[in-house]
Amino acid sequence: MTTLPLHNPATGALIAHLPADDAASVAAKTAAARAAQPAWAALPMAQRKACIEKFRAGVVRELDALARVMTEETGKPIRMSRNELNGLLPRIDFFLAQVEASIARETVLTEGGMTEEIEHAPLGVVANISAWNYPWFVGCNVILPALLTGNAVLYKPSEYAARTGQAIARLLHEAGVPQAVMACLIGGGEVGQALLAQRVDGVFFTGSHATGLRIARAVGDRFIKLQLELGGKDPTYVCDDADPKAAAESLADGAMYNTGQSCCSVERIYVHEKIHDAFVAHFVETVRGYRMGDPLSEDTYIGAITRAPQLQVLQAQVDDALTQGGKLLLGGKAGPGPGNWFEPTVFSHVDHRMDLMREESFGPVIGIQKVSDDDEAVRLMNDTRYGLTAGVYTPDGERARRLLAQVHAGSVYWNCCDRVSPRLPWSGVGDSGVGLTLSTHGIATFTRPKAWHLRQP
Ligand code: NDP
Repeated sequence: MTTLPLHNPATGALIAHLPADDAASVAAKTAAARAAQPAWAALPMAQRKACIEKFRAGVVRELDALARVMTEETGKPIRMSRNELNGLLPRIDFFLAQVEASIARETVLTEGGMTEEIEHAPLGVVANISAWNYPWFVGCNVILPALLTGNAVLYKPSEYAARTGQAIARLLHEAGVPQAVMACLIGGGEVGQALLAQRVDGVFFTGSHATGLRIARAVGDRFIKLQLELGGKDPTYVCDDADPKAAAESLADGAMYNTGQSCCSVERIYVHEKIHDAFVAHFVETVRGYRMGDPLSEDTYIGAITRAPQLQVLQAQVDDALTQGGKLLLGGKAGPGPGNWFEPTVFSHVDHRMDLMREESFGPVIGIQKVSDDDEAVRLMNDTRYGLTAGVYTPDGERARRLLAQVHAGSVYWNCCDRVSPRLPWSGVGDSGVGLTLSTHGIATFTRPKAWHLRQP
């Protein structure tokens, strides 16, 4: 049998060899899901909701152990692992509270003997290929509304969060979701490819732009629903009237939380020249206070880099910025092994010739650029192929709204950052992807509107 080796990124130690899927088992699970989905969709909504409520209770019951599993396999600081699991609970509550209204059958015409209705029918069997950085969030954003709306799910967690993926599936099975309706596929990219070769009715992907492109090409000629939640190069502008200390503390957290490995991490900061130096001083001071170390320790803020190859990406961005005149204020190199470590790194005097300001860093590395006015800030914020989030810090709400209206991004923030709400759609523009999760729209996205034309005889 094929196995998947799983390593602790903080120590390099082997955690486990997990039994892995192969093309034959992926095909068998797909066939089983196809056969089981109609009965699942035919259940009363209350029964499907009851399963998800039990799943929620399982997460609460096992929260500490689940957090530990996630920290061991991803290197995420333990407090942040618990935060993710605690943050999942209101998302589950939102899905449970909103699912019926989101997909309620609509009567849009009753005239004479004619009735027109819109049914929100489940897509059928959907594939969910998922990232490791927030495995509970990105996994459950798809799995839970997909199941609630009557779909079967074939879930391929990242190989870097495979035990978390197994835990999500186990808790759903224990809560009453049939094995065939919720299948977990263990393995690397080749298992994802094997899944894409199956006859599925929708593909929901969270991950890098490069893999998203491969996935779009793999399913492009099949006209099935495709959602891609990809990376970003998320900018924030700090205006001249902002409090430099408060903005610096907030944005340092936005850039470095989860060791910078968030899709909506702050990746570029533009600061008005009037407060630039004060902002930079507070920013560096804040980041200097972040403790890097054992992810299982309660006072660790900077954990391990989950994927070892990312260390080279980060080092190359640092070297490129240094070569082109960037001023290194903090960090700038990998930390000592064993394991994958990179020092929190802050640059000023950066510009858009540098990869640091153009390509996703996905690590604890940030560039701060001085700007002279709002127009320059907006131009630079929009000078990107990505468009996931963008923010503005200013006490002036009108100014913030005016600026944010000009920025191309799926989510915009005023005086906050690195924030996701279950009530709001989560989406990107440009190379940050297509489609959306969360909000009532992100529930209905697992259905297709079916038109009913009904004439009384
Ligand atoms: P990857 O693109 O490397 O992997 C994502 C998933 O795709 C994994 O399960 C991976 O498997 C799988 N995969 C890899 N190759 C293939 C293939 N050829 N066919 C099918 N599946 C494949 O991304 P990461 O997991 O490293 O995640 C980091 C990225 O995700 C960042 O760019 C980040 O910005 C983005 N992201 C976006 C979010 C959003 O909401 N917009 C949220 C979270 C992350 P395996 O891991 O086993 O190789």
